[in-house]
Amino acid sequence: MISVCILGAGPAGMSCALWCRRLGMEPQLYDIASEVGGTLIGNKRPNNWILGNSQLTSHDIAKTYRNNIDAEKISVETAIKLNFIKIEPSEGISIYYSNSDGDEHIRNYSALVIASGIRARGQEMFSFLKNRCFKGAINADPLGHFKGLQDLKNQKVLVVGGGDNAFFTANDLAGAGVKVKLLSRSTPIAQKSIQIKVKNHELHGRLERVIGNLNTIDEDKHGFIVTVNSESPREMREIKRIELRIGFTPRLELLETVSCDQVIQRDDEGYPVLDGWGRSTIHGVYFAGDIVRMGPPAVVTALASGASSARAIADDFRESNLWSL
Ligand SMILES: Cc1cc2nc3c(=O)[nH]c(=O)nc-3n(C[C@H](O)[C@H](O)[C@H](O)COP(=O)(O)OP(=O)(O)OC[C@H]3O[C@@H](n4cnc5c(N)ncnc54)[C@H](O)[C@@H]3O)c2cc1C
Repeated sequence: MISVCILGAGPAGMSCALWCRRLGMEPQLYDIASEVGGTLIGNKRPNNWILGNSQLTSHDIAKTYRNNIDAEKISVETAIKLNFIKIEPSEGISIYYSNSDGDEHIRNYSALVIASGIRARGQEMFSFLKNRCFKGAINADPLGHFKGLQDLKNQKVLVVGGGDNAFFTANDLAGAGVKVKLLSRSTPIAQKSIQIKVKNHELHGRLERVIGNLNTIDEDKHGFIVTVNSESPREMREIKRIELRIGFTPRLELLETVSCDQVIQRDDEGYPVLDGWGRSTIHGVYFAGDIVRMGPPAVVTALASGASSARAIADDFRESNLWSL
């Protein structure tokens, strides 16, 4: 039997598992989180970007996917700690991990799919913020602004970024009565529908757009003092919280646990170098989902990418005597 270890049980990992099963292989899903669903789990917003699914929130979609995985009797282990991955391209892949009870296990597989997603960039992107601790007052989680939102009414919050997540955050905050400053470097790239909502808050004085670069952040007893570099430099005071929405980076810390004679090549921004089907530079190792640069990071592309990797595995192992017919 071709056994496939899938690290990451978000939409990409689950889609890959389903396709592996349909193609006659034996998939096993692992996740470091306690629940499957990946980024969808914490998102209670309607997800109107999947044909035929317009009534469901991302959270609901995650539950639907989980039900499908259970119905296919695909094995899932959550809350794992990955200790070591040994890759011997001609022999297979061994995963060393601890389960939620702390018991250590070793499992052997024919192929490995890494579907660990991407993570939000945070204060490490600003040299003047390195090694400084702000106890949650500077936050990079795209949905983190919902925490303690009620305490922010009529307070000033700075949102930094020009993409969808910055604009959604600014819209949520302004809608909750927060005085929002939205700092973008240049022309925003957020989708037009959310830009219109933000413009509406701006017209009603609930939000101020600021163009420029974050320059310094200091604290006093009233909150943050922020300076911005722009054509007309300015200072903002009494900022209670700063929400950074400045893009994403691949979540590939797990590669530090890999032992292999060959290297999984990565590009300038850290994304794995792959062919169009998710094959990495090492035989038997594949990637799927947001971690693959294949289109907009979205559920539909993650599902397609998981399917591609499964198909690539089936093709690559076509001649293998591991198939049980
Ligand atoms: C705020 C926000 C709103 C969004 N809204 C939409 C929307 O409305 N519509 C839409 O289509 N898309 C939306 N997206 C994008 C969508 O959620 C992602 O494109 C999709 O979830 C990507 O799926 P994935 O499986 O590649 O990664 P993820 O969903 O990120 O899943 C990755 C999984 O890997 C696990 N993992 C990480 N490291 C390891 C490890 N070492 N070992 C094992 N497991 C690991 C994680 O715990 C996680 O469960 C949104 C994203 C965000 C951030």
